[in-house]
Amino acid sequence: MKETICTIPINDVFGPKDGCPICRLHDMLEQNYLDYILGAAMMEPDIRVETNEKGFCTKHFHMMVNRGRRLQNALILETHLDNIKNTLIDENAKGKPDKKNIAALEQLQQSCYVCDKISWGMEHMFRTIFSSFTTDPEFKELFEQQPFICLPHYTMLIKSASSKGGLKGSELSEFYKSASKLSGKYLSTLKDDISHYCKMFDYRSNGQDWGNSKDSIERSVEYLTSEKPDYIE
Ligand SMILES: [Zn+2]
Ligand SMILES: [Zn+2]
Repeated sequence: MKETICTIPINDVFGPKDGCPICRLHDMLEQNYLDYILGAAMMEPDIRVETNEKGFCTKHFHMMVNRGRRLQNALILETHLDNIKNTLIDENAKGKPDKKNIAALEQLQQSCYVCDKISWGMEHMFRTIFSSFTTDPEFKELFEQQPFICLPHYTMLIKSASSKGGLKGSELSEFYKSASKLSGKYLSTLKDDISHYCKMFDYRSNGQDWGNSKDSIERSVEYLTSEKPDYIE
């Protein structure tokens, strides 16, 4: 189960050609891991040890609670709270705060079981993307036909491609060229759309066409952060 959960078919990720494909991959992995943690994995002792120690980030706690699985959420929280109580906070503490203890408390608040699993699954998929890109001309074409790659995922992709186990030499240059074109070209259109949007507030633009600029703020935020703001009218 643990191994199969991150094996998402590469065509499901790149086939739709709608938005950033890596955002799609992220969302698919996120849904799979949330199903997993509130389903089959919930009672597995080794998984529970991990969730007890790492906990979850704000976003993923909220997503878990919103799924409505009250008992599953409560069982996960029961042992997680107990773990914090036994290792991090002494209700009868005296003297001064301990630096090591503070570091451990901070560490807990920065760690998330689901985020870690998503990162692992993404890295796994990146390796498949790199090998398909270099060996399968059809996939290379599909990759280059994507609407864009958002900035955080562009960063992850080129970092992973440049690291150990990634790509080398001309294969790395070729991938870098394609990824930069996808992300950079979209950045240029965003910049133009935002400029057009600003110009439309000038009285001299009265009666002129807004073109593609009306949602350029939302699209820019999505490009910069991987997340669409939810205040679109
Ligand atoms: Zn993305
Ligand atoms: Zn998280």
